[in-house]
Formats: sequence, structure tokens, C-alpha cells
Amino acid sequence: GGAPMPAAAVTPMMEQYIEIKTANPGSLLFYRMGDFYELFFDDAEKASAALGIVLTKRGKHQGADIPMCGVPVHAADDYLQKLIALGFRVAVCEQIEDPAEAKKRGSKSVVRRDVIRLVTPGTITEDKLLNAAESNFLMALGRVKGTPDAYALAWIDISTGAFRVAETDAGRLLADIARVDPRELIVAEPVFHDPELKPVFDGIGRIAEPQPATLFDSASAPARIARFYAVATPDAFGAFSRAELSAIAAAIAYVEKTQKAERPELARPEREENGSTLFIDPATRANLEILRTLSGSRDGSLFKAIDRTVTGGGARLLADRLTAPLTSPDRIAERLDSVSFFRSEPRLCQAVRLALKGVADMPRALSRLALNRGGPRDLGALQAGFEAARAIAETFAATPPPAELGAALAAIAALPAALAAHFGRALADELPLLKRDGGFVRAGYDAELDEMRALASESRKVIAAMERDLIEETGIRSLKIRHNNVLGFYIEVTANHAAALTGSDEAKARFIHRQTMASAMRFTTTELAGLETKIANAADRALSIELAVFETLLREAVAEAEKIRAGAEALAVLDVSAALALLSESEDWCRPQVDSSLAFAVEGGRHPVVEQALRRSGEGPFVANDCDLSPEGDREAGAIWLLTGPNMGGKSTFLRQNALIAILAQMGSFVPAARAHIGVVDRLFSRVGASDDLARGRSTFMVEMVETAAILNQAGERALVILDEIGRGTATFDGLSIAWAAVEYLHTINRCRAIFATHFHEMTALSNKLGRLHNVTMRVKEWEGDVVFLHEVGKGAADRSYGVQVARLAGLPEAVVARAKEVLRQLEEGEVAGKTDRLVDDLPLFSVAVKREAPRPAAPQKADRLGEALAALHPDEMTPREALEALYRLKGMA
Ligand code: ADP
Repeated sequence: GGAPMPAAAVTPMMEQYIEIKTANPGSLLFYRMGDFYELFFDDAEKASAALGIVLTKRGKHQGADIPMCGVPVHAADDYLQKLIALGFRVAVCEQIEDPAEAKKRGSKSVVRRDVIRLVTPGTITEDKLLNAAESNFLMALGRVKGTPDAYALAWIDISTGAFRVAETDAGRLLADIARVDPRELIVAEPVFHDPELKPVFDGIGRIAEPQPATLFDSASAPARIARFYAVATPDAFGAFSRAELSAIAAAIAYVEKTQKAERPELARPEREENGSTLFIDPATRANLEILRTLSGSRDGSLFKAIDRTVTGGGARLLADRLTAPLTSPDRIAERLDSVSFFRSEPRLCQAVRLALKGVADMPRALSRLALNRGGPRDLGALQAGFEAARAIAETFAATPPPAELGAALAAIAALPAALAAHFGRALADELPLLKRDGGFVRAGYDAELDEMRALASESRKVIAAMERDLIEETGIRSLKIRHNNVLGFYIEVTANHAAALTGSDEAKARFIHRQTMASAMRFTTTELAGLETKIANAADRALSIELAVFETLLREAVAEAEKIRAGAEALAVLDVSAALALLSESEDWCRPQVDSSLAFAVEGGRHPVVEQALRRSGEGPFVANDCDLSPEGDREAGAIWLLTGPNMGGKSTFLRQNALIAILAQMGSFVPAARAHIGVVDRLFSRVGASDDLARGRSTFMVEMVETAAILNQAGERALVILDEIGRGTATFDGLSIAWAAVEYLHTINRCRAIFATHFHEMTALSNKLGRLHNVTMRVKEWEGDVVFLHEVGKGAADRSYGVQVARLAGLPEAVVARAKEVLRQLEEGEVAGKTDRLVDDLPLFSVAVKREAPRPAAPQKADRLGEALAALHPDEMTPREALEALYRLKGMA
């Protein structure tokens, strides 16, 4: 009938489903039913849309159809990967008892189920779901209220066990998060909803995940940490601040919450000292395309251009170093020594790389094993690592390495030899994916296992003999003894021969009928059934022996987790050093001199990505350029280069290459230059390229100004600042004035090393007034009315902008080009000329007494400013875009 079911008439299974679903809000629930994970209700609708799988119905709930879809268990990883990539979280709910048990309780009773794991972007371990070359960090933000509030970040890669923590503050929070680039950031609910932090969480996008504040409680944090590591107190790991304890405990609590019963093997939290790494703000990081390009791809990034590593661990370490270059000249020199060493020992370098190619991903294998998600191949990965490590240690025997490599070799030597030997004896050469398939224990390792295997193969021989005997006895040449999973072993004869086995009473007693097929009949005999049992028992026993061996090896490996992790980390160090040596050799890079001076002198510098791209496309060689921002004579601060030149002349390439050279040098790599002397940079800022941010409610100009403000407010004398085309997004005089004032401020107040590219030729007059400002220009040649770009940086100022010529090259109609030339000529002769020279003479510079920290001067009355600004607008003369920008400007003043 069509009468709605009363609410109470929910099936017991649906009742169970709803209970589990309610306990796991915010996740899609994968509900195990036989060979499928089923999804119901909203989950089903979301998942079927996201995965492109069929949405069906199953029964009714409160009178309405229940939407349902499902994914087969064996293919679940692929679907999980898709869902995680789309930002979903998934709760995996398994049957936690044998269905037979449930039947015993009563015919209506439902199999017990429970969520055994929450799959979230920051807590995955499967190779299929991970990129070998990328870390997969889960990050927790801790905050302790005070004046000012204290912040800390803790981040874990549970796929490798890496665990780090650092203090931070509200101002650099976004930058510190962007540096680590976590897949998931958990934040206490009140912090997540704090309006003051809204820009931060807006800035990092959907990876932020609010969590109950209790996870972050700093008072109970030490106890939680101590419990996880089974130690008396976390003090043994170092003295952590309350904010750090909160972040560490929250990260651990979240891991426990998502992994349920399983305990991952995590390293002890390691502290990163404030200021030990080069600070790169998020905009700079994105604009310089360090790990990814602005469009999000790895191809075309700096990382891709320099990565020559041969292991996943090596690639991850390289990415790690690239995102966090050092500031200590000593530590940088240590890394450079390793690269120099391999460069001077090319044969050793090759041998090490060859051996490293045999290394599998040890930390990830170990972590899967610890979480009970590992298989025989994970044990094999550890074994392969042990073997490669031994081979590598041997290659070094004759050559004493420098400090960093020496320490790495020591960690490799400390890999548990007994364990390695045990793995060698126990594991077969070919390993199955799943432990339940068996066959991964080496013959000769376990006497009883060998016996069981012999029994099984012996019995198979006996069966073959039995088949021969039966053929002879019955004269049926087509008689076969076969095996399938339903019947086990059986004797099969074609239908026309069946009579021979059923004809007499004697035959009937001997050949027990099992199955009649269309063209064949199947039988068994007591003898055959006996053999079958023997084989099955032997196979069962063999498998249980193998599983016990697996458990033993797993436990032994997990017990040595710390040493294995250290050994794997050491292999990654070797991989990175050797790869950087090879890179510097093949790309002809030089070892930079890095010290605590304020020098920045690059001779013959190149842009690594552009150079490789030009070579690939055959567009001719990259033109190397010098850059010298070092303090001159007895001056105590670095210089500013004011770079002019036409569009397409190579300005932004030059700016970026110098920033990249600083990053490479400080991460401990050789650099694309003939010579480089770099005084450690503590902060790197850039404002390059106009990323159009209109979608986020900011005009291009607004974004540019926000980024410029950040630089002028923060850059100190150790900073390196790269500014490209400030003031482009507004009217000429506005833009020129802002660019002008920014350079004066950089020179006089920030006093940092900087390169400032501009299309305002007027600004070159500033060099008359500012002692550490130098004009340089991208050289061009004019040839038969066209421009030829030389991509060469030379002293002096560009005499013209060649904008019209560039426009012509781009294919603007001849008529437009001709008309533009005419307009330009008139403008240049007109009243504009000569004005800027006066500007240099008339305007006083910033008084050096201006303090960067000083509060901004009180704004004039708001209403006045708004009124004035409004009066200055002429809507009839504005393009829609200008109007929109003006609107934003006004909004910003309100
Ligand atoms: P701008 O910023 O002045 O408009 P770009 O830096 O974008 O110019 O460079 C424009 C193009 O010129 C680049 O795409 C690159 O192919 C080429 N280029 C730039 N610098 C060099 C160089 N040093 N050697 C060779 N080609 C270069």
C-alpha cells in the first residue's frame, strides 16, 4: 500500500546505518555490505555525482525511496583517491564480526559494523593515494590567548612519520602555513571563527578544518603526548611552549581520531627554530613558482627544473629544502660541501645513484606496516632499502666524506643489521601484494612451512598418479581430475562415459556423484576427498605459518622504526646531494660563496627554468647577466637596481632569476651562474606579475598595493626585494607617484638589497639623488624600424620604451601602429616633458627619522576623504573596469 511507514518502522540495518552516520558527521560514510561499500541518502547523491557512478534506490525510509550507490571493495582506493582530491572526507565502516555470529543472535540481527578509519586528505598512507615526490602533511594550529596571542604549528606526515613543530605569530601565520603546504589544517572551532583570522583561513582555502576545541587543550596536552609515546612526560623531547604543546597534542589527537584502533609510528616532534629558515611570503612563493606554477602544475616549476633525484624520499627532501632555505652560513656550507664532494667524485656519485635506484620508499612502507595496512611488498621495500644501504656504505669505503655525508653514512651504518639479515633469510624473491595470498616466505626459512609445502606438492603428484590410474582402469581417456573453489578436487568424465562410473553397484559405491553438467558428470572418491583434506590442511597450516612470520617481521621492523627512519632520511640526503652534484655538472652551475655579509654579486646569472625551456624549444641560448647589489666601498647597506627596458625585454626573467639564485644558494645548491657571492638573505619579497584577483573581490591594483605594503612594512636590511612594474594598474601619474615613493622608501628606510623594474622612464632621474640607486636597462637594438631584444642588462637607462614597436611585433594593424607613433610624438613634445626632473629637485625625501613601526598618521576625517574622492570621479569617462576599481577604492576608504 501507499501508506507512509511509521517512523519507527526502520529496518534494523538502516537503524544501524543512521546511528553510525550520526556519529561521523562531515564525512561520506562507506558502509560495507559484502563486496561493496554502499552509500545512502545525501552521501549517495554527492558520491554518485562526484564519481560518475550510478545512483539507485534501496528500500524506503519514512515513506521515501532511499538513494544508494556503491563502489566495489577491490577498487575502493581509486574512488577514495578521487573523493579526497575533490575535498571529501570518507568514513570507512567495516563489518567487525563474522556474519555467522550475527545469525546466531537471531535471524533478524544485523552484522556488527563500525568505522575503522576516517580517510582525510592529511591522513592517507596508500601509495595509490600519495605522490611519491610530495610530502603529505597534516597540520594543527595551536593558539594560546595573551597579549599578544601565541601561535604554533605542528605538522605530521603520517605516511612517513615525520613530525615537526614551530612557533609563529599572527603576522606570519599565513606564510608559515604556505611554506609547509599542508593537505589539511585543523583548527580549534573558536580560532577558526575568529574574525581577525578570517583573511588567513580565506587565504589558504578549503584545507582548513574546524575541530572541537578540546583537541587543542594545552592543559591536558602533555599527558596526551606522553600517553601516545608511552613516556612519563614530553619534557624529554625538549621544552615546548604552551602553544606548541597545544598544536602537537591536537595533531596527535586528530591522528588517533582518524586512525581509530591503529597507532601510526610517528617520530618525536622536532622543533624548528624561529629564523633558521629564509622567510618567503606566500605571494612570493607562488609568484616564483617554486614547487608549482601559478596554474598549479609541477611542470615549469623550479623544483621540476632542478630535480634529478632517483628516490621518492630524495624528491621529498629536495622539495622540503627548496621551500625552507637556510639562513646559517655554516649549515649552508655543510650542504654545499656534500655537493662539491660528489662533484669531485663523479664515479662514486654514479655508483651511489645506481644503488639508490634500488631503494623503495622505506618510511612509507614502515608506516603502512605500523598501521596494519602493509603487505609483503612493504616488507620487501624495507629489505631492498637495507641492501641498497649496505651497497652504498661499501662504495664509500675508500673515500672519507665531508661532515653531512659522514653523518648520513653513520645513520646508514646504524641500520639494524640483524633485522636486515633476518629479512634477507625470511623473504622470498617474488612477493605477492596481499599477505593472504601467501608464498612470500623463502624456502628453507621455516622447517614446518617447507614440510607443509612439500606435502601439498607431494599430494598433487599423488593426484596426478591417481588420474593416470583411473584412466587406465576405466579406459576413459578423457577422464580428468580437476579443482575448483566450490567442489574442490573432482573427477570429471563426459556425459557419454558417465555410465562407466555409475553402471555397477560397486562403481556407485566408489564414485560419489557430485554434479551433473550439460555435457559432463563430476564425482569424487573417499581417497580423493582424503587427499583433498590433506592438501587443504597443509595449505591452511602453511598460510598461518606465513602470517605468523609476517607478524614477527612487522613487529621487529616497527620496534626499530626510529633507526629505519633515520637510515631512510640519510639515504635521502645522499640522493639529494648526488642529484644536485649531477645537476650542477650537466647545467654548468657554480658553487656560491654564502656568508654573513650583505653582498649580492652574481656573475653570468641565468634563469634555470627559462634557460632549460629555451634549450628544449631550440630558441637560442639564454643570455647570462650580472647583478651586483653589494654595498659599495664603506657603505653599510646594499644597493638598489632600477631596471628599465621595453616589454618583452627580459626584465621579469632577470628579477626572478636573482631571487631564485638566492633561494638555491641558501638551500645548499650550486647556482646557475659563473660566480656568486651572497650574504645571507633573511627575507625574500617579490611583487611580480599581475595575478588577477578580481574574483576574490580585489582589483589587480588593490592586490598590488597590499603586496607592496607588506614589503615596505617588513623588509629589513638583510632582505632581498624584487619589484616588478609597481603602479601599472592605475592612471599614469598615480602609478608613477607610488612607484617613485616606494623606491625612495626602500632606499632610505628599508635599506635592503632590491631590484625594481619599471616602465616609468621618469624614475631614472632618481639616481641623481639616491646614492645607492643604480640605473640599469635591458639592451635592445633598433633595426629597420623593429626592435631586437638582446636580453642583456647594461648600465644606464633605456632611452625609449619601444611600446609601439612591441605592439607592432604582436601584429597590431599597421594603421593603429602609425597613428600610435604620431600620438606618442605629440605627447612627448607636449607638457609632460621635463616635469620629473623638477620633481627630483623639489620634493624632500623621507626623513630618516621615520620609524617603520610608527603608527600610521591619523587619517583625515573619513567623510572629507570620501567626499573628495567622489568628487574626483567622472563616471562618464570611465571604463567599466576603472569604475569597478574606483568602487573598490572607495569601499576601502569607508
Ligand atoms: P619583460 O618582463 O621585460 O616583459 P620577460 O622577462 O617576460 O620580459 O621576457 C620575455 C621573453 O624573453 C621570455 O619569455 C624569454 O623567452 C625571453 N628572455 C628573457 N630573458 C632572456 C635572456 N636572458 N636570454 C634569452 N631570452 C630571454
